[in-house]
Amino acid sequence: MIEIKSTDQLAAMRGAGLVVAKALALMTDAVRPGVSTAELDELAEQTIRDAGAVPSFKGYQGFPASICASVNEQVVHGIPSRSQVLADGDLISIDCGAILDGWHGDAAVTVPVGTAGPADLELSEATRRAMLAGIAAIRPDGRLTDISHAVETAARTAGREHGRRYGIVKEYGGHGIGTAMHMEPFLPNYGRPGKGTRLRVGMAVAIEPMLTLGSPSTDELADGWTVVTTDGSRAAHWEHTVGITEDGPWVLTAPDE
Ligand code: MG
Ligand code: MG
Repeated sequence: MIEIKSTDQLAAMRGAGLVVAKALALMTDAVRPGVSTAELDELAEQTIRDAGAVPSFKGYQGFPASICASVNEQVVHGIPSRSQVLADGDLISIDCGAILDGWHGDAAVTVPVGTAGPADLELSEATRRAMLAGIAAIRPDGRLTDISHAVETAARTAGREHGRRYGIVKEYGGHGIGTAMHMEPFLPNYGRPGKGTRLRVGMAVAIEPMLTLGSPSTDELADGWTVVTTDGSRAAHWEHTVGITEDGPWVLTAPDE
């Protein structure tokens, strides 16, 4: 049931991934106090459409925008808005997806707004490190939860270094990706290694840890989308789409692969 891509098809996914990478890079540069999340969304949609691609989030189960913009205690799935204007000291995560020639790319970054607090910077760094550890754990003929375990271990290790215990959000996780954005298998961001689907050349997965400065528990707001931490602590989210090749992971949404 898990989609296997040929080398050419992974290369086509790389095309979609580069569109997402470009949009995220432009939005990262545009983040500053006074900018609204709706402006970031417009920048993303324009960048994606200029590249001949389609924003995959727009209309996805009724989602109204091309990015998810999740500020501070918002974890994921925040809806961009004119009224949400970024302020100095905010922490925003931006999630973006594009379809090019039928193939999907999906990635997210966390960006400090203006002067960031040290705890926020460490939170974001820990989350990014957890994502990178998950990517590095990919082995053809390894198992899916090798990735999960590497993500959790890196998050715990970063927490010890930073003198805190990060919350690892459990209700959401990574996923298979290819001709659709969300495909089998679901990829938890925690757990023991050596279980689940056997990883094979030609699979593609989105690896996307979400960490918090407090409890891992989340709630969904009345808008039906925005996920927030139950305790109001800040959250970070990083994501890359990764193809599995004979030579190991191919980070399809990273500018430098
Ligand atoms: Mg995403
Ligand atoms: Mg995703």
